[in-house]
Amino acid sequence: MKKLDKFYIDGEFVAPHGTATLDLFNPVTNAKVAEVALGDAVDTQRAITAAKEALKTFSQTGKAERIEWLEKIHAALSRRKQDLIDVMVDEYGGTTGFCSMIMPASIDDFKEMAGVLRDFDFEPRTGRARTRLQPVGVVAVVIPWNMSNGFICTKLASALGAGCTVVIKPSELSAQQTQVMMECLHDAGLPKGVVNIVNGMGDVVGAELTRNPDVNKITFTGSTGVGKIIAKGAADTMKRVTLELGGKSPNIILDDADFAEAIPQAIFAAYLNSGQACAAATRRLVPAERLDEVNAIARATLENVVKVGDPKDPTVNVGPMVSRKQFERVEDYIRIGLEEGATLLAGGEGKPEGLGQGNFVKPTVFTNVKNSMRIAQEEIFGPVLSIIPYADEADAIAIANDTAYGLCSYVTSADKARAYRVAGQIDAGRVCVNNELHDPLAPFGGFKQSGFGREYGVFGLEAFLEPKAIIG
Ligand code: NAP
Ligand code: MG
Repeated sequence: MKKLDKFYIDGEFVAPHGTATLDLFNPVTNAKVAEVALGDAVDTQRAITAAKEALKTFSQTGKAERIEWLEKIHAALSRRKQDLIDVMVDEYGGTTGFCSMIMPASIDDFKEMAGVLRDFDFEPRTGRARTRLQPVGVVAVVIPWNMSNGFICTKLASALGAGCTVVIKPSELSAQQTQVMMECLHDAGLPKGVVNIVNGMGDVVGAELTRNPDVNKITFTGSTGVGKIIAKGAADTMKRVTLELGGKSPNIILDDADFAEAIPQAIFAAYLNSGQACAAATRRLVPAERLDEVNAIARATLENVVKVGDPKDPTVNVGPMVSRKQFERVEDYIRIGLEEGATLLAGGEGKPEGLGQGNFVKPTVFTNVKNSMRIAQEEIFGPVLSIIPYADEADAIAIANDTAYGLCSYVTSADKARAYRVAGQIDAGRVCVNNELHDPLAPFGGFKQSGFGREYGVFGLEAFLEPKAIIG
């Protein structure tokens, strides 16, 4: 059994001050596999002190130097690319297909940010002033378990690119993945204290990061509920915040789309990362008069193409839920959908046959769902799709926007101009047209309760900069 009992503070792997530990279980077998040490306020303060000290010199570096650091981190992570993929599949249960796609793309965040820096003017002329864009200071990174090292890459690339120093608090459920990340960052040879990592609970380590006056900014990914706690706590010391929160993304299939292609694609957009993705397209909006046709294609896709099982099997496209708790949450929502009177098209309660040990749920599709139902309004974070019929294009847009969230959305149409017109009317930080999902330079973030601020590219970099106008 592994013991994960070191933090990374001031350039060294150090023993924690905190004495609590937490057991980690494999999501496929539910066997205990590791024990992680949990930090306390003292560990967190040590990491913040190291970051504050390192800021004195790192904040003064020029962009050429920082581009070099980003490239060194990119190289260090690239050397361990397969380890990073393997540990994500093994610890978290992400499918081999998903992890093999997302980890290399995340590593490339450092290369992309180096490119952004090359073209970025840190001292633009604004009127008669010169406006110096200086690093915001010490940054706290607080993230969840569903793509832990990917989030670290995105946030770290921007923060370091801006000249900030960082304290990271990952989810304790990701401790084995964090261990590999710590080794890579150490290997990159950054000046000590520029990046620090402390494992621990949100209400201990996360709360200290939120309250500590020496932290200047928090960049958070996680649930809307915790995002609000952090935003309120950050106000006392006027910390800057970036909040990447939940979603309930609509996927509008317009009546001119090729359904034979669009419906299966829409299933995979819903089951992205086994459904444990903030951007998952969990509300599929289809023309009411073609609901039977949609249902038939969806049922056939579930029977013939969707495969749930061991994430190490490369043909599997839905893995286990990260934890027993997450498994139970998804089961609860499947029950709620039945109680609310949605029509169960595929899946349902209970574990799939032959997968009784792990945290596996049956990939589930509800159809004839009303947008007011809880399964259409609340984030489930599992492979549960709601098919919602609409009357016409205007109705589709109204349903798409009838949500507290506004992170992602999707539009499929044979007519690109029409898709763009619809895209323009959706209140979300990202609209993916015809299954184009990501651009590493395009901003990502939420409208409404999906958060505050943007990541990636120039928008992501500017979130770590404080403009100072020097006039005269
Ligand atoms: P969570 O409970 O919000 O936790 C996220 C992080 O916040 C964890 O590290 C957690 O620590 C920490 N935390 C908890 N309470 C805290 C507090 N009082 N103060 C400071 N930090 C605290 O989220 P989760 O359940 O792990 O992850 C799933 C959620 O993340 C979903 O709602 C999903 O939509 C969202 N998400 C959003 C995005 C996006 O980019 N918009 C991406 C992925 C996921 P512990 O680990 O100790 O709880
Ligand atoms: Mg949590």
